[in-house]
Amino acid sequence: MPESGVPDPDGDPPGPDTVDRRPDPALSGDMPPAEFLRWIRRAAEWSAEYLDGVEGYPVLSRVAPGELFDALPPSPPRRPESMEAIFRDLDALVMPAVTHWNHPGFHGYFAVTGSGPGIIGELLSATLNINAMVWKSSPAGTELEALVVQWARRLLGLPEDWFGVIQDTASTSSLVGLAAARHRAYPEARELGIFGLPPGRIYTSVEAHSSIEKAALTLGFGRSGVAKVPVDDTFRMRPDALRGAIVADLEAGVRPVAIVATLGTTSTTSMDPIAEIAEIAAEYGVWLHVDAAYAGSAAILPELRPWFKGWERADSLLFNPHKWLFTPVDCSVLYSPHPEIIRDAFSLVPEYLRTAEGDEVANLMDYGVALGRRFRALKLWFVLRYFGAEGLEFRIREHIEMAREFADRIKAAEGWELAAPVPFATVVFRRSSGTGTETGTGAGSGTEGEALDRHNLAIMDRVNASGDSFLSHTRVAGRVALRLSVGNLRTRREHLERCWAQLQRAAREALPETP
Ligand SMILES: *Cc1c(COP(=O)(O)O)cnc(C)c1O
Repeated sequence: MPESGVPDPDGDPPGPDTVDRRPDPALSGDMPPAEFLRWIRRAAEWSAEYLDGVEGYPVLSRVAPGELFDALPPSPPRRPESMEAIFRDLDALVMPAVTHWNHPGFHGYFAVTGSGPGIIGELLSATLNINAMVWKSSPAGTELEALVVQWARRLLGLPEDWFGVIQDTASTSSLVGLAAARHRAYPEARELGIFGLPPGRIYTSVEAHSSIEKAALTLGFGRSGVAKVPVDDTFRMRPDALRGAIVADLEAGVRPVAIVATLGTTSTTSMDPIAEIAEIAAEYGVWLHVDAAYAGSAAILPELRPWFKGWERADSLLFNPHKWLFTPVDCSVLYSPHPEIIRDAFSLVPEYLRTAEGDEVANLMDYGVALGRRFRALKLWFVLRYFGAEGLEFRIREHIEMAREFADRIKAAEGWELAAPVPFATVVFRRSSGTGTETGTGAGSGTEGEALDRHNLAIMDRVNASGDSFLSHTRVAGRVALRLSVGNLRTRREHLERCWAQLQRAAREALPETP
């Protein structure tokens, strides 16, 4: 060792005088097989009991910020710990800080389900721990993924010749789709970057998910590179305004890069008029990206398929099985009829990843940002097989029916109103008057509107504090509205009835301010 005390990387490895090499079975190798069997059984029992009793937990965690962090040691243990101790802390400390997305009263954001078959698939993919970066690194990873994206494509009625790849989230799927759009609009950018090139624009509606703007930021367009097209009075992108924005940009020398249509917007689940938008995209030769993160799963229902007409003209399209197809987070499928453009945008193959199979196989690392790829196909394959197309249809249809029944109650109740149409299983509604004695006069405006906003938030907070139901909120045309999403397989009509009773009670108790 040099005098400085810093080991010389070219010298001998540090000797026994600096590293403790005393034999200690607790310090080497993986968990012994018998112990693994015992604890994976315990984990299986824990999971089954948890799901069976999840309704007993308050749906929304009640911890204060920092509570869990401060309850655990600031540094990792020096000595190995027992599984008993770890499970004990899981139950005593971690569980109170969990918000229970699998609770039947979870209606916030978009309600989801980590279903039984999905959980089992996820467990097995952790067991196999493959990294599906190239075909050779585990053929099952690439081939099962090609198969399940084909199955899902057929369930949704998308074109047979589309390529599909699983990403972690819709945000990543949109980033990849829009990177391909950028590559088509600026082929020179792969070598030069986009700085110094003429400005480009991505068109999407004011109701689009923030991930579109984030992708634009990441891809170098900046927020000014996103044109937020206005919507009509049911929150659907206005095609006339879209066309106007494209024409104005072309005249000003701005390159149209992509149009992003949303099928099932996050706030109100509105459907952009995809057939008209696809027509405009074709007319101006602009890449069409479709974000169907939530509502895409509903295309499984033959009776709803007509609403999606036109999405088959997309250049890239995503939907999230982890939203409404009962697959545990994370799983987003990105489709495109132009896999070669995605690959041209991303592919960089270092020597150590070159394989003899060459172009004979798809190496999925070429179709996204990440090199390493989890075996996400396995859980989706379990879900699709276990429920079957009929089972998936039945369950999604049931969710839509339950949501519509809830919406009917809102419509019929004095002092309440729907804030948006209910095409799927998410109801956007509000208390429209303070006391319930006067008839609903709309969300109001000015100070009266702001008082109602506060009243609605107070109602939501009361319901959420109950521990039985969890709702989230949004703003619709500037005014607060509450969102109730049905998407968990444990949710039954009785849960929605209880939630409605709580809402009515909260509306009485959270007394409105008199303006
Ligand atoms: C939920 C949602 C997203 C984001 O999904 P992640 O998978 O969490 O990135 C994007 N777009 C829409 C329309 C959504 O509803």
